[in-house]
Amino acid sequence: MQIINPATEEVIREIAEDSQEIIIKKYQAALDGQPAWAAVPLHQRIACISKFYQLLEEEKKELAEILTSEVGKPLQQSYNELNGARNRIEFFIKNAAKWLGDEWIEEEGATREKIVYEPLGVIANISAWNYPYLVGVNVFIPALIGGNAVLYKPSEYATLTGLQIQRLLYRSGIPENVFQVITGKGAAGQTLLELPLNGYFFTGSYRTGKYIAEHTAGKLVPVQLELGGKDPLYVMDDVEDIRVVAGAALEGAVYNNGQSCCAVERIYVQEKIYEPFVQAFVEQARKMPVGDPLDAKTEIGPLSRKEQLKTLMEQVTDAKLKGAEILLGGKQAGAKGYFFEPTVVVNTNHNMKLMTEESFGPVIGIQKVKDDQEAVQLMKDTPYGLTAAVYSKNFDRAEAVMKQMDTGTVYWNCCDRVSAGLPWSGRKNSGLGATLSYQGIRAFVQPKAYHLRG
Ligand code: NDP
Repeated sequence: MQIINPATEEVIREIAEDSQEIIIKKYQAALDGQPAWAAVPLHQRIACISKFYQLLEEEKKELAEILTSEVGKPLQQSYNELNGARNRIEFFIKNAAKWLGDEWIEEEGATREKIVYEPLGVIANISAWNYPYLVGVNVFIPALIGGNAVLYKPSEYATLTGLQIQRLLYRSGIPENVFQVITGKGAAGQTLLELPLNGYFFTGSYRTGKYIAEHTAGKLVPVQLELGGKDPLYVMDDVEDIRVVAGAALEGAVYNNGQSCCAVERIYVQEKIYEPFVQAFVEQARKMPVGDPLDAKTEIGPLSRKEQLKTLMEQVTDAKLKGAEILLGGKQAGAKGYFFEPTVVVNTNHNMKLMTEESFGPVIGIQKVKDDQEAVQLMKDTPYGLTAAVYSKNFDRAEAVMKQMDTGTVYWNCCDRVSAGLPWSGRKNSGLGATLSYQGIRAFVQPKAYHLRG
């Protein structure tokens, strides 16, 4: 398997894919290792994760450079991702004992009752490339703390980072048979689906997520899916500073080259402020430096995957054919690397793919709306349900919109944000189940009810 730098198109490394035979061996090793790991006292398991937390800090320069080299995100954003991952790990370290300890329901009387939280067993963590540290730690950290063994399948586009994670977990004291990277492409993931694992935790596209849910349904084990979105942002006419709001919306749309599950994917603006908003948005987008992700000035690097260039081009062309106007960008940039110009499209409507299908790139459509009612109707016109954002001075007015959203997350005067303390979940085609928060700790254990007499 070739690992390609998306900024230069050079092959960085060649890595052997795990054969079916190797994956089965890794599974058997995990089966052997898991009970002993579950028997390690919780505070010792947490101590290993604390060591991992520390190593991520010590080695952050090398880790950030590796991440940028294989996924193309601007280097500062790779550092941000590592810092963000450490924040989440800290949350798990501080809160795991509270949510995993035995819970007494009845301590006195003829029958005492308690709940004990036991690990699921050997689980698969099939992961995406866009934030390999962030979406990875959502799963493998609470899973390991909970006493599970993890077969971690990084995306083929984030394999080097997956191997770094494995190296650092081993240095932190996690036994080698308790966390194992499965290297390979979709076929390696497919082999995991065929094994009798005790849980499947997936981050990726709706298409693959649905396939995984269908192919594991008969096992009757937990299946969690963190999938894509088409997240709307609505700007009401009462915002105090249009320029600041335009800047925040732009950041939400293009951070990580627009490749965030909760990126702002479509913008609605109330007609009274539509013109100044669009002007402020384009002005700021025009100034965003596109280029070498290792250059500190760069804000937009290459896309991670070559195929995405085609998707973006198709969306822009489709919008243009249906009457949209391209105010900025609209095509691939540079002769080498998977760069796409920051692109702003107006005069959009929901007949256009750009406004209805996940873009996953620095491309955004802006649509004018009459009032809150029209905005709500358009925001809800999607099979996805990850996040929705509203910008307004008036909380009551914003809350009325937020209440109507069928999404796992809503934002008031912010966007494209994840917090370790809050559940991260998608509704409809955006997912099933939740990671992070106490729910994301309990997701990796199963309750056993004790009825005790005598
Ligand atoms: P994909 O669905 O293409 O891949 C996700 C993972 O599944 C990869 O490891 C992939 O392997 C693997 N896979 C592919 N085919 C199979 C199969 N048949 N059986 C088992 N595993 C398989 O998603 P991307 O990696 O492209 O990630 C981008 C998507 O993820 C976007 O839609 C984004 O919105 C979503 N996402 C959602 C998040 C959330 O929290 N809701 C967070 C981050 C991303 P390989 O890549 O090697 O082919």
